Amino acid sequence: MREITHKLAFAHDGSAPRHGDVFDPNNGVVQARVPLGDAALLDRAVAAAHAAQPAWAAMNPQRRARVLFRFKQLVEDNMQSLAELLSSEHGKVVDDAKGDIQRGLEVVEFCCGIPHMLKGEYTQGAGPGIDVFSMRQPLGVGAGITPFNFPAMIPMWMFATAVAVGNCFILKPSERDPSVPVRLVELFLEAGAPEGVLQCVHGDKEMVDAILDHPGIAAVSFVGSSDIAHYVYRRSTEAGKRVQAMGGAKNHGIVMPDADMDQTVADLMGAAFGSAGERCMALPVVVPVGEDTADRLREKLVAAMGTLRVGVSTDPDAHYGPVVTAQHKQRVEQWIQTGIDEGAELVVDGRGFTLQGHEQGYFVGPTLFDRVTTDMTAYKEEIFGPVLQMVRAANFEEALALPTRHQYGNGVALFTRNGHAAREFVSRVQVGMVGINVPIPVPVSYHSFGGWKRSGFGDHNQYGMEGVRFWTKVKTVTQRWPDGGATGDSAFIIPTMG
Ligand code: NAD
Repeated sequence: MREITHKLAFAHDGSAPRHGDVFDPNNGVVQARVPLGDAALLDRAVAAAHAAQPAWAAMNPQRRARVLFRFKQLVEDNMQSLAELLSSEHGKVVDDAKGDIQRGLEVVEFCCGIPHMLKGEYTQGAGPGIDVFSMRQPLGVGAGITPFNFPAMIPMWMFATAVAVGNCFILKPSERDPSVPVRLVELFLEAGAPEGVLQCVHGDKEMVDAILDHPGIAAVSFVGSSDIAHYVYRRSTEAGKRVQAMGGAKNHGIVMPDADMDQTVADLMGAAFGSAGERCMALPVVVPVGEDTADRLREKLVAAMGTLRVGVSTDPDAHYGPVVTAQHKQRVEQWIQTGIDEGAELVVDGRGFTLQGHEQGYFVGPTLFDRVTTDMTAYKEEIFGPVLQMVRAANFEEALALPTRHQYGNGVALFTRNGHAAREFVSRVQVGMVGINVPIPVPVSYHSFGGWKRSGFGDHNQYGMEGVRFWTKVKTVTQRWPDGGATGDSAFIIPTMG
């Protein structure tokens, strides 16, 4: 049995009060054991991070950036093995796993330019002999708690930005696929980061609670499901920390009558079923506008779904692999049953799907519902599986209202050839990330990622300048260098520039 370890700045014998199993979702076999750490372990990691932080923050930003440059190269050199490891624990196909790593690396690339982003602002002559300047300084020690579905990208979003600006960082990855996060931390140290700058601790709720309460951790970045994101937000802010907590999603793809129907269907296949629907930017709801659009779309969707190949994650021809755990497979199938019970029309049923030779794997076939309505819990809640729900809308206004009123507001896409409709949609929809003829509008690394409503708690988005702002605090200096000495006068009114 493979033993996964914490990655710490101090010697640790690997013992743990508890362990978790890491499965291979392709065949249901336990492939590794992960230690589940506790508050005492975290305490030592935080102490090591604090010991390393002043020197790391004092290092000039170009030298910190050089570590990121070397790290990027090391990850690229190890791309194949990292992708295979990721795929074997998560279940996404190997090429998709490479995309997971690549999207994280793009944030690393952005952070290689960190000296430019920390330059601050300067005003000469704000008053007589007075200059004002502001700078961004690191917070100290930060922590990141990440979900199972992007075990490379999301840790890199967080730690690349946090350490580039001079923080030390403790990563607590998902206990379901923790091996790639450990490898990333190892490669970061190999790239030249001093011990203690980046560490990885494993655990479940016990470790998360220890992070949220620890007085030595200044900021927490969380990505996961909404109830837990909200809990993390409440508990961390109560402890006086800065928090960004991204939650779940239920993204809508709205299809206007004038959309290029073949391209839209092709886009929907990837966005609804890629990675078995386990993406927070997946499109699990499609909203055709008008009955004729709905009928044409449905016919093409059914045909396209018939060509989808579900396979083991190492199958180069598979479109998607298994879901992450047996419990998750059961949950997705239960949601399909709920949809039926609530009166939606099941058009394609993915339950009971088995792959010959992999009967114990956690596979779910592609599933399509039509005539889903907004009162159904199966519409309101996130399913996070290969299930596409069609909600028919009579017109543009009705379609626009659906994502706008939904409890989640992560991503949304509009398929149309009408520029005016697109412009109207962009300005009025109440969702954080919008795609126009782009099914998965995950912003590039020099913009930023964040959903609205129950998809995101806290004030700053992930990565880009938003990430830099989250991981730094502003210090503003007002200085005077008088010519010829002090006047000796006291001022008893608040100084103004009048
Ligand atoms: P999850 O909420 O179960 O777990 C996320 C993290 O929280 C893990 O590290 C886990 O160990 C920890 N955790 C789990 N239960 C906890 C508890 N009771 N108390 C404290 N911590 C706990 O999420 P997941 O299943 O790993 O990931 C899928 C979810 O993440 C989906 O809801 C998906 O939409 C969401 N997600 C959101 C984004 C985004 O940016 N908005 C991105 C990716 C995934």
